[in-house]
Amino acid sequence: EAKKAGRGELRFFSDAMNAAARDALVIDGALRHAIAANEFRLDYQVIAEAGSGRVGKVEALLRWRSATLGTVAPDRFIPVAEDSGLIVELGSWVLAEACRQAALWRGGPLDGVRISINVSAWQLADPGFVPLVEATLARHGLPGALLELELTERVLIDDGPNVRSVLERLRALGVSVSLDDFGTGYSSLSYLTQFQLNTLKIDRAFVMDIEHSARSNSLVHAIIAMGHSLGLQLVAEGVETDGQARILARMGCHYLQGFHIARPAAPEQLLLFAASRSDAASGAPV
Ligand code: C2E
Ligand code: MG
Ligand code: MG
Ligand code: MG
Repeated sequence: EAKKAGRGELRFFSDAMNAAARDALVIDGALRHAIAANEFRLDYQVIAEAGSGRVGKVEALLRWRSATLGTVAPDRFIPVAEDSGLIVELGSWVLAEACRQAALWRGGPLDGVRISINVSAWQLADPGFVPLVEATLARHGLPGALLELELTERVLIDDGPNVRSVLERLRALGVSVSLDDFGTGYSSLSYLTQFQLNTLKIDRAFVMDIEHSARSNSLVHAIIAMGHSLGLQLVAEGVETDGQARILARMGCHYLQGFHIARPAAPEQLLLFAASRSDAASGAPV
């Protein structure tokens, strides 16, 4: 009996794996033409200053509308692009597109707002990465200070020594670096002293419970205190309620990001948002 049930489970498991593998294959196939077919765009999500509610930075988030598959979420296609190595080419497209957009924003309400892009381990490990960043900034006439790169802890463990020198060279260009999804995954506090980071982004998993869980609340408080003492800027991700925003601001979190502030949106909407929150506007702070 037990053996039979076990075999059934095994078959089910392997069917699920086959389905996942098929899904990945289909996505992989469609991804190969997607850049040339112009199927990608970037949405931008506001990262607001906690005190004033003004736009502090914006995060570029990749969007894919496939001719054959329809809209595919990043959580489905980014891992596939990472497995095939296509993420390097895709990441170059993201960098160029974000810099193009940042250059267009100069002179308007978003002038001086830093643009933040997500970077995968493969990109950072590519010896051409730092020169590419430098050349892309130069091509669009952007100072490095207007660009931020978001890395995950995974990137830091994959290739420690090399990453350290890459981060130093980026810093020399004026580019800042933030650690995304902090607290999930592979957290080792030694990363915070080993690598030159500017910002910690506290993962949504902790932020979502701060109003109702004393433990999440203490944890976020501790992360913020630690960030302050290490001279790091703090961003809270996934802020969905006014209560969360108030608690985080009171704890000294510098920036807030989440649906409560703004959803990821097209560049034109970002401009309208920024105009409504600028000095000239009389809107109430967050
Ligand atoms: P991430 O970098 O941590 O980005 C934040 C994700 O949380 C985004 O999902 C965003 O839409 C979502 N989000 C923001 N505020 C809220 C909120 O209040 N509530 C909830 N429930 N979600 C919120 P998205 O756009 O689906 O991206 C998912 C992940 O895909 C990103 O996580 C990032 O790891 C990856 N990704 C997106 N664009 C790129 C890219 O250009 N390159 C690379 N390598 N990865 C990317
Ligand atoms: Mg991110
Ligand atoms: Mg994140
Ligand atoms: Mg995330």
